[in-house]
Amino acid sequence: MRNWMRRIAIPNSTLLPKPLFSFNSTTPFLISFLTPPRLFLSTPLSSQCSSHFGDGDTFAISSNHSKVLLKGMSYPELQKWVQSHGYRPGQAMMLWKRIYGNSIWAQHTDDLEGLNKDFKKMLSENAEFKVFSLKEIRTAADGTRKILFALDDGMVIETVVIPCDRGRTTLCVSSQVGCAMNCQFCFTGRMGLRRHLTAAEIVEQAVFARRLLTNEVGSITNVVFMGMGEPLHNIDNVIKAADIMVDEQGLQFSPRKVTVSTSGLVPQLRRFLHESNCSLAVSLNATTDEVRNWIMPINRKYKLDLLLQTLREELRSKHNYIVLFEYVMLEGVNDSDEDAKRLIEIVKGIPCKINLISFNPHSGSLFKPTKDERMIEFRNMLAGGGCKVFLRLSRGDDQMAACGQLGKPGTIQAPLLRVPEQFRMALGTKT
Ligand code: SF4
Repeated sequence: MRNWMRRIAIPNSTLLPKPLFSFNSTTPFLISFLTPPRLFLSTPLSSQCSSHFGDGDTFAISSNHSKVLLKGMSYPELQKWVQSHGYRPGQAMMLWKRIYGNSIWAQHTDDLEGLNKDFKKMLSENAEFKVFSLKEIRTAADGTRKILFALDDGMVIETVVIPCDRGRTTLCVSSQVGCAMNCQFCFTGRMGLRRHLTAAEIVEQAVFARRLLTNEVGSITNVVFMGMGEPLHNIDNVIKAADIMVDEQGLQFSPRKVTVSTSGLVPQLRRFLHESNCSLAVSLNATTDEVRNWIMPINRKYKLDLLLQTLREELRSKHNYIVLFEYVMLEGVNDSDEDAKRLIEIVKGIPCKINLISFNPHSGSLFKPTKDERMIEFRNMLAGGGCKVFLRLSRGDDQMAACGQLGKPGTIQAPLLRVPEQFRMALGTKT
């Protein structure tokens, strides 16, 4: 172990050994366009169970079917649940503030100072504060932290904390274990989809990171849903988790600073823009259907034209709303002058900014990162064409904490797709 890298190992005994969902050669969740994507995209996958209360309300409960998950509830749901146990709404607010606010981030009834004794007893009998346990923290040379969490079913997710000199620290959360989208430049995509995360498991990443690292890295101000998974494939839980994160009495993230990223699931994107006031990022990465069909197979279902036209139409009715386009630069694939010119044209009429992202290599990938000088030229062309464009430095890549590097695919992996003939030379491959 090199001395710039600190590891905090958590004993294995804190982890539950048997996964509820295993990934084997018969697992049907690798993306396949031989099967209808609609069926695939609506597959319910989650370890969360639910419990019904009197008038039809549903609350998330823990996987051992005994306790309600506090972080899976919005505030109105928590209030209702507290009242259903005979306590006042005011006590629900006191609890909410101790879970999410005032630098308490309660993980146990012992952290609930000032709450009534009976209320605490009821909580310890009926509610769960934590939904996963800390497994390990890896710190990269640039200060980026990759946090590994062990879920109740034994699966592992990764969350990244990215401190920034300008007093802004960004948290990158996961929304699924693995991902079904099979983007060819992404390590997580090689895992296939294991399961969706529950709203509680998503929110807990933010609470846990604040509790663990605020003293070290300062206030965590921004959240990006750019970790493992396609957030809009798990849209119900993602919208709910984002709502909980921006609650003004709770975690108090600004909706402008909570960004949900998508590879381009058009119906879900439309729904997100209608139902959430958080920000949206679209992972674009290509300027033609031919290239995008290959590097982002979701494009075979939702073509570039449809994606961009939907954004153009939907953003017309949103005031002061800017979408972020992410563009991972792949040498010889999407970084030509023609790409720059096309990019300027295809985003016209969409209030947007563009982040040019350096590709982060990982094992098994054929792609190479575009050279820095070329990225600058590309950036200058876009800026010259009137685009608001930024170069994004790679962060945490020495710890596989950078964009597109999260996860652990294992031996059964999503397939690498056939490289179109005209790119084979640039990638140094024959197939
Ligand atoms: S880039 Fe995002 S959507 Fe694509 S495979 Fe990776 S995690 Fe999934």
